[in-house]
Amino acid sequence: MNREALEERLAGFPLYAYDFIEPGELEFSHRIRWICQHECPMYGKSWACPPGVGSVEVCQGKCLSYENCLMIATITQVADISDIQQTLATRPEHEAITNQVRDVMEELGAKPYVLSTEACALCERCTILDGRTCRFPEKMRPCVESHGINVMPILESRGLEFQFGSNVVTWISLLFY
Ligand code: SF4
Repeated sequence: MNREALEERLAGFPLYAYDFIEPGELEFSHRIRWICQHECPMYGKSWACPPGVGSVEVCQGKCLSYENCLMIATITQVADISDIQQTLATRPEHEAITNQVRDVMEELGAKPYVLSTEACALCERCTILDGRTCRFPEKMRPCVESHGINVMPILESRGLEFQFGSNVVTWISLLFY
């Protein structure tokens, strides 16, 4: 895929930031997986979440099988970031932008593997709850944290802030290609 052509198209998106990462730069952490297991209500409830998504090592292997990774970030101001409903209400817009960027990458000849912010909500009831295989393995999209990825070191290495203030929500997606 032609990176210059992609960057021309990215200029048309309301991104706070984007950058290209070598997958080997990413930190894969069992500590992030531990947080999924102990603090996320979606743990075990979706094929897009641990443990269904595979071990940290399996996820890492998948990410490292790609040569490149595009990171995109969006930010949105909310009235009260401690209100989880307000915060989550900003997510669909980021997901829509992620889908559009994926479409652009596909137009340019890539077939990106996308990690975003969702636990996959394509089906009303995830088949993992009934012990069956995923209905749409090609479409389902795990979140970045499900793969044990700690994005903070990458953001810091690029001089990007994650917390802008008390009421600014930041969403990150990674598109491996
Ligand atoms: S596509 Fe359906 S079955 Fe697959 S992870 Fe998403 S919700 Fe679950």
